[in-house]
Amino acid sequence: MSFVMGRCIGVDVGGTKIAAARVESDGSLSRRFRTDTRADEGPDGVIERICQGIEQVMGEEKVEGIGIACPGPLDARTGVVLSPPNLPGWDRIPLKDRLEERFGVPVRVENDANAAAWGEYLLGAGRGADPMVYITVSTGIGGGIVLDGRLYRGADTFAGEIGHTIVDPGGAPCSCGRRGCLEALASGTAIARAAAEAVRKGNRRIREAGGSAPRAEHVFAAYRDGDEDASRIVREAVRHLAIGISNIVHLFNPRAIVIGGGVARAGDALFAPLRERIRAFLMPSFAGTFELLPAKLGEDAGVVGAAALWAERPK
Ligand SMILES: [Zn+2]
Repeated sequence: MSFVMGRCIGVDVGGTKIAAARVESDGSLSRRFRTDTRADEGPDGVIERICQGIEQVMGEEKVEGIGIACPGPLDARTGVVLSPPNLPGWDRIPLKDRLEERFGVPVRVENDANAAAWGEYLLGAGRGADPMVYITVSTGIGGGIVLDGRLYRGADTFAGEIGHTIVDPGGAPCSCGRRGCLEALASGTAIARAAAEAVRKGNRRIREAGGSAPRAEHVFAAYRDGDEDASRIVREAVRHLAIGISNIVHLFNPRAIVIGGGVARAGDALFAPLRERIRAFLMPSFAGTFELLPAKLGEDAGVVGAAALWAERPK
């Protein structure tokens, strides 16, 4: 199966939104669809809305493949979604089989971070860089690895969980039930938690930007103004990200590391100190071996990457 212009559909199933579109071979989207996930209604309701999206995007034209980017954990070989924390009630749901039955079109299901990684590699910031590692820093932290022109999925398709590599043993509790994961220390949620704490203790600059429930973007705004608490919060998040990323660099010797997700929108306020910190953690031989790049596909990464799964050569 090759990636034919406009004949593949990508669907991005998130905890709050479902997005779908036809994806052209240059990565541009047509016939966009978007709706609320309403995850609290459980798998049947969510799958119904996924189908609704596919139907609208499909129209009367021929479709050769459908790709679904979905929160993990899931088995990408069988397309069975295990039990994602942000899709309550899902437990071993055979999403691929159910959609293939309904539409009579081959379906691939991939973990959302892997799909975004593949999209950035094929059509975004990581084009031509191999190995390429993609890291999304938003409410959580996810990752995907492209090696020898394919997604590297590992023995059980669980690979790439950089968010749950431990960077501070015994550190802050993580959503996965363990402690000190990168996600617990450097995600948008972790930055927001530290910011709320600073506001509670009397910080005014962060409160001016984001009230009593500030988000990461408000912390970066205060950081640019030289606020001390914001600087400390950014410094800590950057230090932990740099530990995680330098470990990846030593393991994979990547040509590029692409960073996406909401927190990456902070731009130079994140990338400048991050580059410096990573450099300090690297063995000298790794200096200058890779680029650290902001993602290019933005919110479309999941949809583009999911459709582009049909361009991945078979193993
Ligand atoms: Zn964790």
